[in-house]
Amino acid sequence: MINLNEVLAQVHKEIKEYIGKGKVADYIPELAKVDPNHFGMALRLRSGEEFSNGDADLPFSIQSISKLLTLTMYIQQVGLELGDRVGVEPSGNPFNSLIQLEYEHGIPRNPFINAGALVITDGLISVFKNLEDEILNTARRLSGNPTVNYDLSVAASERMTGFRNAALVNFMKSYGNIVNPIDDVLDAYYHHCSLSMNCLDLVRMFSFLANEGIDFNGNRVLSFRETKRVNALMMTCGTYDAVGDFAFRVGIPAKSGVGGGIVGVIPGVMTLAVWSPALNSQGNSLAGTKALEVFTTLTGRSVF
Ligand code: GLU
Repeated sequence: MINLNEVLAQVHKEIKEYIGKGKVADYIPELAKVDPNHFGMALRLRSGEEFSNGDADLPFSIQSISKLLTLTMYIQQVGLELGDRVGVEPSGNPFNSLIQLEYEHGIPRNPFINAGALVITDGLISVFKNLEDEILNTARRLSGNPTVNYDLSVAASERMTGFRNAALVNFMKSYGNIVNPIDDVLDAYYHHCSLSMNCLDLVRMFSFLANEGIDFNGNRVLSFRETKRVNALMMTCGTYDAVGDFAFRVGIPAKSGVGGGIVGVIPGVMTLAVWSPALNSQGNSLAGTKALEVFTTLTGRSVF
């Protein structure tokens, strides 16, 4: 039987030279203050056993990993068919790109690029009276951690510099693909991106993705079919425009964020989370991607 504590220690050792390499996201000024030399990793098996290494219990800004949470809530409320408002194809473009939106008439390629996530947030605003409370409560419930919170300084920092996201929402509104007031959509979006959580919170929160839709308390979050589709979207759209390279090297569905976190899933087996703040040129954690690659190689587990 493979000793997963030893595997995680070995992964950490093998990727040490990559920690701090790359660049911390600085287009959100508050994120530029984070020490690039952190590294944490955690995993939770379907059986409930957990293993961790390094800074796995240090909270960080989960940023786009929150799009996995809002997509889950959207599917719960509205259903699986994203319909004519958001596609399910990889974009092949940077996560905050405007160019594709113009020639595709304001319909984002998928729910994980910024434009798609903004449409999902808009859809949720139409359902919930107080979406920010709803998202926070869902994050706390699914992670089992009542202290999870928004980092309001990160949300405020992003609001001050979020001209591109404002452009995306305005542009989609001109096509009728945003129904609520622009400021409400941006506000809720900046809040969910600012969720501060650690690797252990994340493997618990997304344990349902490795367990056919059932969370670690035994409650159904999504159906098997919905879970399969969320995992498929992570595989094809979860790691920005590096998704092909990520599948090639790592071989598991994953969702990354510019805070340097990545959540990965081996369906039916385990949920993983890794955090190291310095990013590669496509916006994925450089050491984090490497760690997941080494992990799947050492354990021989991936979806391929
Ligand atoms: N809040 C970030 C933005 O909108 C999220 C980007 C990301 O993590 O991919 O730019």
